[in-house]
Amino acid sequence: MASEDTPLMQQWREVKARHPDALVFFRVGDFYELFNEDAVEGSRLLDLTLTSRNNGGSKAPLAGIPAHALENYLRKLVGFGKRVAICDQVEDPALAKGLVRRAVTEMVTPGAVFSDALLESRRNNYLAAIAGDAAGESEVGLALADLTTGELTVRRVPWEELTDVLGAWQPAEVLLPRTWELFPLPGAGTATLTYRGDWLFDPRGAAEELCRHFRVANLAGYGFETGDQWLAAACGALVGYLAEVQPAGFAGLRPPTVERAGGAMVLDEMTRRNLELVETLRGAGTDGTLLKVLDEACTPMGGRLLRRWLLAPLLKPDHIAARLDAVDEFFQGDGMRRAVRDALGGVRDLERLAIKVGAGRATPREMLALATSLDRLPLLIDALGNAKSSLLSILRDGLEPLDDVREAIERAVDPETPVSIADGGVIRQGHNADLDELRSIRDGAVDWIARLQATEREATGITTLKIGFNRVFGYYFEVTRLQADRVPAHYHRKQTLANAERYYTPELKEWEEKVLGAEERIGSLEQRLFAELREAAAREVPRIQRVADHVAVVDVLAGLAEVACIRDFVRPVVDGGFALEIRGGRHPVVETMMPREEFIPNDVKLDEDARVMILTGPNMAGKSTVLRQVGLIALLAQVGSFVPARAAHVGVVDRIFTRVGASDNLVRGQSTFMVEMNETAAILHGATPRSLVLLDEIGRGTSTWDGLSVATATTEHLHDQVGAKTIFATHYHELTRLSDTLDGVTNFSVAVREVGEDIVFLRRLVPGGADRSYGVEVARLAGMPETVVARARQILQELEEQSAAAAGNAPDPAQQLGLFDGGGLPHPAVDRLRQVNPDALTPIQALVLLADLVKAA
Ligand code: ADP
Repeated sequence: MASEDTPLMQQWREVKARHPDALVFFRVGDFYELFNEDAVEGSRLLDLTLTSRNNGGSKAPLAGIPAHALENYLRKLVGFGKRVAICDQVEDPALAKGLVRRAVTEMVTPGAVFSDALLESRRNNYLAAIAGDAAGESEVGLALADLTTGELTVRRVPWEELTDVLGAWQPAEVLLPRTWELFPLPGAGTATLTYRGDWLFDPRGAAEELCRHFRVANLAGYGFETGDQWLAAACGALVGYLAEVQPAGFAGLRPPTVERAGGAMVLDEMTRRNLELVETLRGAGTDGTLLKVLDEACTPMGGRLLRRWLLAPLLKPDHIAARLDAVDEFFQGDGMRRAVRDALGGVRDLERLAIKVGAGRATPREMLALATSLDRLPLLIDALGNAKSSLLSILRDGLEPLDDVREAIERAVDPETPVSIADGGVIRQGHNADLDELRSIRDGAVDWIARLQATEREATGITTLKIGFNRVFGYYFEVTRLQADRVPAHYHRKQTLANAERYYTPELKEWEEKVLGAEERIGSLEQRLFAELREAAAREVPRIQRVADHVAVVDVLAGLAEVACIRDFVRPVVDGGFALEIRGGRHPVVETMMPREEFIPNDVKLDEDARVMILTGPNMAGKSTVLRQVGLIALLAQVGSFVPARAAHVGVVDRIFTRVGASDNLVRGQSTFMVEMNETAAILHGATPRSLVLLDEIGRGTSTWDGLSVATATTEHLHDQVGAKTIFATHYHELTRLSDTLDGVTNFSVAVREVGEDIVFLRRLVPGGADRSYGVEVARLAGMPETVVARARQILQELEEQSAAAAGNAPDPAQQLGLFDGGGLPHPAVDRLRQVNPDALTPIQALVLLADLVKAA
C-alpha cells in the first residue's frame, strides 16, 4: 500500500503520476533504477535482471542500469518507440537535508532525441503534430519539426492526402489530440503516436503559445493567413510539447515556415516505393535507391536536404529552372565546383551543432568542430565569387563568414582539448590571466613535488624511493617492502601494498594541498569560461542556422552537378507544356549495376497525339525498367537535377502515379487482385490530364480474360476520361489492339531476337506490339528443366491450334475457366451480374463491382 511506501518510493510515485506513459529512469547514486511496472517492462525490453527492493513492509520490483551506460539503453527503448523520463538528482547529495530532491530533467521519445548515437546523420528525425476538426473540415494542420536541426514547417493537408504526406516525411513520433485515439491514423507507419489533451490543440491557445515562444505579437509575419487556425494549432501543440520534453527550455527551434499547396508534388506511397526513391521495395537501407546514386553531398545537412528534395519535386517551371541554372553553372564550371566541394569537405553538421550550442550541450570538441566548420566559410564564399546564376548569387550573398563566432571559439578553446570538460585543459593558455596563474601555481607545486624524489632519496639513502599519485590517496612516497625498515620516523604510513609501502610527510601533504586546491579552482574557472563561451555562441545560433541552410543548398546543387558529370546526365528542358520526350533515356539506378556500355538507352515520347503507350514484350525484356526510368527522369527534372538521357523535354507533371507488379502487400493478407484494383482505383480517381501514369501488368492477379477486360477498361478510361500521359506495360499482347480504336494510343515493344529455340533480349524499344509472349523461351532461360520446356512448347502449340480452330482468331472467353464460368449452376456472382446494366456503370463502379465479384467468387 502506498501509505507504507518508503520516502524514496513516494518520491518515485509522484514522478510516475506525472509521466504515466513513460518509463521513469530514476537516478539513485550511480544507477538509474526502474521500479514496479517500469521494472517489469524495462527488464523485458532491455534484458535486465529483475530484482526487488524492500519497500516498507513489502517488496517492489526493481531493475537498474549503470548511469554511464544510459545512452545504449535509450537507443534500444527509442527503437521500440518508447518514451523515457529521465529523473535526475537535482541537488548535491552531500548538501541535501534528508532525501535528495529529484526532478525530470529530460524526456527522451522517438521524436525528441538529441544524442548523435541515437540519430542518423543523413536523415531528419521528425516530430509531427496534427490538429483539426476531425468531424467537420476537409483539411488538417500538420506541423513537422526536427528538434536536432531546429527546422519547423507547417502545412494544410487534405484528409485524403494525409497518408501520403506522413508516409513521405516518416515522422518518428506524431502528436495528436486525445479524442483522436478512437480512430486509426492512416500513414503513420511505425511512428509512435503520442496523445495529449485536446486543449493543447486549441487554435486560440496554441497561437498564443506560439507568439509567446517566438516573442512576436502575431503570426502574420511568418505567413499565417486567416483560415490557417489549424496550422497554428498544430504548431502550438508541438511547441507546447517541447516544454514537456525539455523542461529546462529549448532554444534553437526556428520560426515556422508555412508550406503552401502547389509548391511541391505529393508522392504517394506506391510511387515512392515503386520508383525506389529513398528505400528499395525490399525496404532496408539506401543501396539500390535513387537517393544513393544521387547523394554526392559533402555534408550531413546536404545529405538530409537532398532526401527532402527527392520526396518533394517542384511544380513551377521557374522554380525548377532556378535550380537547374545553378546545377548547370556548377556542371559547366569544373573549377568552381571543385573549389566549392573542397571548401564543403571540412564542414561538419552545422545544423545539429547549432542546436547543441543553443541547448548548452555542446562539448569542447564540438565547439572546435563548429569553429573549424566556420573556418571553411570564407573559402566557400570565395569559391562562389563568380557565380552568375540567380540562385547561387543569392546563396553567396546570404553566406556570412561568422568570423566573430569562430574567433571567439579559437581564442578560448585549446586545440588539443579533451572530450569532456571535467578532464580539464579545455581553455587555451593565454586566454585568461587568472587561469594561467592558477596553472603556474599548480605546475610549480607539481614540479616541486617531483624534485622531492631526488632530495628524499639522498636524505634517506633509499635508492628505490619513488613519488606517485593516485586519485584516491593523492601524493605518496613509495618504498619497496625490503627497504621499508629504512624509512625515517617522520614518514607516516598511508597504504600497504603486496610489495611496497606508501608514506606521506607533513611537507608532502602541504604541497599536495596546494596542487589540489589549485586544481579545484582551475576546474571551476575552466567550466565557467567554457559556459560563457557557449552562451555567447548560443546568442548567434540564428545566424549559424541561416548559414547552415545556405550551405546545405549549395552542397546539394554542387552534388547534383557532380553526379551529372560522373554519370553523364544532361540538363532537361522543363516547361509548362504537355509533352514528355526523352531521347537516349537510361534508368539511373539499373545502369549503375552493369558496365556502362551494357545499358541500352531508349527513346520515349508522350504527347497530345500519343499520350498512352502500350508497352509489350516478354517477361525480363526490360519493360519495367523503361517504365520506371520515364518516371525517374520526369521526377529528377522537377527536382532540378540533370537527367540520365541524351536529351529530355519534360512538361511539368502534377503527380506521378505508379502501379507495379504484385507487391508485397500480400503480406498484409489482401489478395493480389484486390490490392491491384484498390491501387488502380486510386489512380483513376486521382489522376488529372497533367499527371504521369505508369502501370505495370494490371490484371495479373485474376484469370486471363478478367485481367484483360480490366486492363482494357482502365486504359480506355485513362485515354478518354482522364487524358493523362500513360505508359502501360503488359505481357497481354492482345492489348495492342486498342490502338485500332483509340487514336491517342501507340504500341511499342521491347525487342527480342529469336535464335533457334532461344531468344536474345535486345532491350531496345521499337514501334509496334510484340507478336507473342515468349513465355516458354523465358522459362527455358530461367533454367526450367529441358523436358518441362519441351512439354510446355507442345501444349502451347495445341492451345494455339485449338484457339485458331474456334471462332476466327479471337479466343472465346466462354472456353476460359474464369469468373463467368458458372457451369450452369446458380452462383451469387452470376445472379448479381444479371441485375447490372452495363451502360449505366462508370468505369470506377465497374472496377469496384468486379472486385466485389472476385471476392464473392
Ligand atoms: P520486364 O519488366 O520486361 O520483365 P525488367 O524491366 O524487369 O523486365 O528487366 C529485366 C532485367 O533486364 C533488368 O533487371 C536489367 O538487368 C535488364 N535490363 C532492363 N533494361 C535494360 C536496358 N535498357 N539495358 C540493359 N539491361 C537492361
